[in-house]
Amino acid sequence: MKKLSKNYFIIPIFVPHLGCPHDCIFCNQKKITGLSTNVADVDVKNIIEEHLETFPKGDISIEVAFYGGSFTGIDKNVQKELLSIPYKYKKKGIINGIRLSTRPDYIDEEILNILKTYSVDTIELGVQSLDEEVLKNSYRGHSVKDVYRAAELIKEQGFNLGLQMMIGLVGDTKDKSLFTAKEFVKLNPYCVRIYPTLVIKDTYLNKMYKEEKYKPLSIDETVDIVTDILLLFEYYNIDVIRIGLQPTENIQLGKDVIAGPFHPSFRQLVESNIYKLILENHLSNYKKDLITNQILFIETNEKNISNIVGQKSFNTNYLVNKYKLERVKISKEDLPRDIINITLGDYRKTVSRKEAINKLLYKRGIL
Ligand code: SF4
Repeated sequence: MKKLSKNYFIIPIFVPHLGCPHDCIFCNQKKITGLSTNVADVDVKNIIEEHLETFPKGDISIEVAFYGGSFTGIDKNVQKELLSIPYKYKKKGIINGIRLSTRPDYIDEEILNILKTYSVDTIELGVQSLDEEVLKNSYRGHSVKDVYRAAELIKEQGFNLGLQMMIGLVGDTKDKSLFTAKEFVKLNPYCVRIYPTLVIKDTYLNKMYKEEKYKPLSIDETVDIVTDILLLFEYYNIDVIRIGLQPTENIQLGKDVIAGPFHPSFRQLVESNIYKLILENHLSNYKKDLITNQILFIETNEKNISNIVGQKSFNTNYLVNKYKLERVKISKEDLPRDIINITLGDYRKTVSRKEAINKLLYKRGIL
């Protein structure tokens, strides 16, 4: 499986409204008439050139990504026109990868042959859920079976498989989301995206919300569910490349986001929650009187500090209050990212993230 290097840059090409005649209740992409579109609407060459100018020189990987809509539902000639442009750049070695996203029922041998001809590397499937009822409630228009069939075909043909899931859809539960995540693990994807369901303007979900037929998850409920899912994916070394919709001018509460667990740094909330759980798990080893009024010293890699502290010092305040600590003192050390040193009074322990995550998964009944 081809992994792009960490030092990689993406050239996003948005193809909204292209190729999707469906009406998923959470999506506000307008229906298009038929499946054709004018390729001139998406000026692929200019977008690529503009981005290339901004990238540093040297050892970097560049990927062109077609986002939005359902790429392989577009008229095949238009798909070929769109793909032919990054393909030329890839052949010349100017870019390194091509990725696109689509629906599971828009994958077949013929489509994959086209994508192979244009050297596409990664195909992301908008799966959303592997619970039949949740798919039905969402008017996805495809079945769970379509997902397994498409995922297997994509892998068989040598593409990288990306999987996208949503949390908190109509009829969804924590157990159903965890089931979807566990099924994703079995499909052994190259990467995963997790999107908490938001109520977006001009969607059927918004109508349901207004009629009080749909209640979105709170931020806390969503963080709790996504924490378990992220722990699970980390345990199985599955790369989670996105959590939560990217905030844009319109993707903001009060703009197109009417309700739901929106947060501009959703991932950080989840990462911080994981550190909170790791630290609590560690503190649970001590007798209460050994902790009270003590200073909890944590040594860590600089990159972990903001996640350990939590947004607005949530974690450190929480630990001080709950365990009656004098305070929490965090210092940056030249340590690997997956190791933290914890000192409490006379006790010092090196905690490995991997081991801590294994313990949490068992403790939370996920494994
Ligand atoms: S298939 Fe994708 S693009 Fe089409 S309506 Fe559903 S979510 Fe929107």
